[in-house]
Amino acid sequence: SDSSRPKSTGHGQAKRSTSGDNVKVVVRIRPPNEAEGERFHSVTEAISDHMLVFDPKVQRPMGFLPPNHRDVNRRRFKDLKYAFDYVFGPSSSNKDVFEQTTGSIVKGVLNGYNCSVFAYGATGAGKTHTMLGNSQEPGVIYHTMIDLYKRINEQRDEKCFDVAVSYSEVYNEQVRDLLMPRGNLPIREDKTVGVIIAGLSLHKPKSAEELLHMLHFGNKNRTQHPTDANAESSRSHAVFQVFVNQRQRCSNFNSEVKMAKMCLVDLAGSERATHTTNQGARFREGANINRSLLALGNVINALADNKFKGHIPYRDSKLTRLLKDSLGGNCHTVMIAAVSPSSRSFEDTYNTLRYADRAKHIRADVSRWAGKDLVSLLMF
Ligand code: ADP
Ligand code: MG
Repeated sequence: SDSSRPKSTGHGQAKRSTSGDNVKVVVRIRPPNEAEGERFHSVTEAISDHMLVFDPKVQRPMGFLPPNHRDVNRRRFKDLKYAFDYVFGPSSSNKDVFEQTTGSIVKGVLNGYNCSVFAYGATGAGKTHTMLGNSQEPGVIYHTMIDLYKRINEQRDEKCFDVAVSYSEVYNEQVRDLLMPRGNLPIREDKTVGVIIAGLSLHKPKSAEELLHMLHFGNKNRTQHPTDANAESSRSHAVFQVFVNQRQRCSNFNSEVKMAKMCLVDLAGSERATHTTNQGARFREGANINRSLLALGNVINALADNKFKGHIPYRDSKLTRLLKDSLGGNCHTVMIAAVSPSSRSFEDTYNTLRYADRAKHIRADVSRWAGKDLVSLLMF
């Protein structure tokens, strides 16, 4: 079946194959589930550690027609090859994903740089599996925290650390605490500490088990509603934040505290709201989800075009306001785009790959960045 495809040209030859040092975009293709394995064919395949082929022309079962959408014109799809910083195939583990993604930015956090990690993709593509995981296969958040604590322990003699975590959701353009739910919380911007969610509870888990317990407890509080499109549809963005404060134990700058935070976000399903037939409240939900995802896309595009003189539309949604000081500038950013391998989801997969492809263009430009980030810059 591979004979019609061009041979892999290797990482270097794909157009726009690399992102800036501060940005990583990876794609994870999950294994097919039972329903997909039987009736559908694989349209997305990892052909190397850095490249995938998207080919919706592979033979479909009789009677299967693609949705009628302007972007999904079968004639426009030849084999599409995409290069990313990493492509994880169906046999990859959450540990593998951690090692190639947040593994390299924990160090940055300990050096005072904010960072953000997104799991992007349609409902059912594997976002929550990747970020949160389950007891047999803990997710990227777990591995990141283990790594963070390990590195902190190694530096204990020279520095004092203070680590706290929070878990919130952005739902319907409102921010709620997932660990101590009590109404909507406002987002504020502070000159010294940056963006904060006022009244959000902070926690200091004493062990990895306690952290996992907290995450699963929080996840149960996420707003989820059955819709016509998918009974498990997740309509909220779950935002896990780690705040790291540190100071030298014995130095002339004894009083200086270096602050950094890590935001790990399990985004709401990226499928288009038009897929559901719901009206009223549910319809508004859909519009707001699109608003946050759209705004995130616009922010990423604006950063990607490197038009820092221009306007970065952080204020267009709650999610982007929340991430304002953790996205772009000197912040490390990781996007994990999750896709199904199956022809059943090829439109979602195509849209996700395009979104991820755009995200590769973010370039960091420390010199033109001001505001909160300057605080951490000045501390070096
Ligand atoms: P999303 O959060 O994007 O809606 P989930 O992470 O809940 O999707 O994944 C949908 C289903 O597929 C879940 O049952 C999950 O356990 C399973 N799944 C997703 N990714 C993988 C993977 N890499 N390996 C095994 N199972 C997976
Ligand atoms: Mg989910």
